[in-house]
Amino acid sequence: MSRFPDFRTDGRWIRSQRGSKSPVDPFIPYGYFNEQERTFHGAVEDANTILLINRECPYSCLMCDLWKNTTDEPVPPGAIPAQIEYALSRLHAARHLKLYNSGSFFDPNAIPVEDYPKIASMAERFDSILVESHTAFIGDHCLEFKNLLGSRLQVAIGLETVHTEVLERLNKQMTLDDFKRAVGFLGENGITTRAFILLRPPFLSEEEGVEWACRSIDFAFQAGVEVCSVIPVRAGNGALEALASGGFHKEPSIDSLERVLEYGIGLNAGRVFADLWDLERFSECDRCFESRRERLERMNLSQEAASRTDCNCH
Ligand code: SF4
Ligand SMILES: [Zn+2]
Repeated sequence: MSRFPDFRTDGRWIRSQRGSKSPVDPFIPYGYFNEQERTFHGAVEDANTILLINRECPYSCLMCDLWKNTTDEPVPPGAIPAQIEYALSRLHAARHLKLYNSGSFFDPNAIPVEDYPKIASMAERFDSILVESHTAFIGDHCLEFKNLLGSRLQVAIGLETVHTEVLERLNKQMTLDDFKRAVGFLGENGITTRAFILLRPPFLSEEEGVEWACRSIDFAFQAGVEVCSVIPVRAGNGALEALASGGFHKEPSIDSLERVLEYGIGLNAGRVFADLWDLERFSECDRCFESRRERLERMNLSQEAASRTDCNCH
């Protein structure tokens, strides 16, 4: 059987596999919480993390389910600051702010440009602010926003994978050169980058999934990123379920996530985090899950390897 299906996993096919969106209110974020993270300076500090509601991202990536909590039309000016205000008034104080918007912060149809000054003024009390963007939106809007900020700006970009044939089939519409150029442009302008890296995207075996995640970390650091965040690919958007039923996708194991995190931290090239969201679905053993989760959390916060969990499920 070929590694790839005999049909194109393009935007039209990906969207045709979707279920319905969730009802959303453009003045209330769909999530907000505090999370701890190891900082550039080596301390462990709190971040206020807000999941914003805005217009759906114009890309339809094969592994993405972020469209579920988006609007079809741009939200009115003032709605994004209102969402941030809503979350900040309910969260306890933190030194860092992360604004995830299910797409690109610098897409003017997602975050109205006229809202930048208000958002920047709300971000004033934070040491750093993290936003996310596709490489296609990296440009003048980043500089405009950065110039309004007193705090450090980091932009998270989905590198996804450096396996070029897989990357193309993810419908990301980004090349590795686009990624390098975006990181270079941000760096020249005093903005740091975080790379999102997929663990076992579709079309790869478990071993290949680990290998290509490690290679992607290498590439990201060589390109100049400051932080890599490794995300195990989880189904839930319709397209991945369809590929799974054809034998083209399987979710990675928690063991693979541990191996990739060990590799990334061992490079000593920058911080590497494992995304622990919904982690239990990647575990096949109830006996060791909790200790593996704690180990990953410890490694995220310490950026040091910890001894492996001993369990006969290996
Ligand atoms: S660019 Fe990001 S938000 Fe947009 S579809 Fe792709 S993964 Fe999802
Ligand atoms: Zn076990």
